[in-house]
Amino acid sequence: MSGSKAIACAIAAAAVLALGILNFAQGQAQTAPAAGAKVAKCDRAKFGLLLDVGHTPEEPGAVSARGANEYDFNLRLAQRIEKTLVDAGFRRTVLQATGGPAITGLVHRVAAANKANVDLFLSIHHDSVPDRFLETWEYDGKEMHYCDRFKGHSIFVSFENGHRNASLRFARLLGKQLKDRGLQYTPHYTEAFMRERRRELLDADVGVYRFDQLYVLRATAMPAVLLEAGSIINRDEELQLAGDERQSQIAASVLDAVDDFCAGRATKADVTERAR
Ligand SMILES: [Zn+2]
Repeated sequence: MSGSKAIACAIAAAAVLALGILNFAQGQAQTAPAAGAKVAKCDRAKFGLLLDVGHTPEEPGAVSARGANEYDFNLRLAQRIEKTLVDAGFRRTVLQATGGPAITGLVHRVAAANKANVDLFLSIHHDSVPDRFLETWEYDGKEMHYCDRFKGHSIFVSFENGHRNASLRFARLLGKQLKDRGLQYTPHYTEAFMRERRRELLDADVGVYRFDQLYVLRATAMPAVLLEAGSIINRDEELQLAGDERQSQIAASVLDAVDDFCAGRATKADVTERAR
């Protein structure tokens, strides 16, 4: 995701709002149970999850250190997550991908998501860096760009989403599951050198950032979270993200986090914050 894309997304959002195409009907805000409450169970067959594949084949997002497209990483990981959830009984898990220009695809995906009657929206992306951090190397006889300076996943929520608390609750649950599996989030979005891409870190334990303007998070009519699964411009991490082990760790993390969310569970940070 780049700054210019975020601005373009904001413009598209304004256009959509002006046309009144989207229905921003908001459901009931979900709240976490009180600490010490009985462990609730999730009715997996009833819970609807929409897995949004970031970008389109025509405008595939970031380019990896070895010249692969972000869209292909996003699609492969989303398919892996979908299979893991469906196999575990979350039959109302829907994978959503679109073609065409990025903005059109994005607006279509959000509009379709708002009609889909799902309980949660998770957008899958893979990260890169601003151009000023790129270095050059040769891979497969071709000159490629890379940046090994940053690695790790990051999770984003928008406080302009109508279900801000529920979005944050799921984001924290997901961050905790990734952390429990030994995966580390990247802290570099807090740094001044990120300039216009600098973000507020809402949860320093599990790596949840605030990104209010992100169209896919603010225009969705249900709790919504965006996962940057890792950095494909980092030469080592690209290989890990392309491999089975990392994909299965992420898919298992999403499964457990969705199960927690569906059952109304929350992380300690969430419960403490709500009690204040
Ligand atoms: Zn992306």
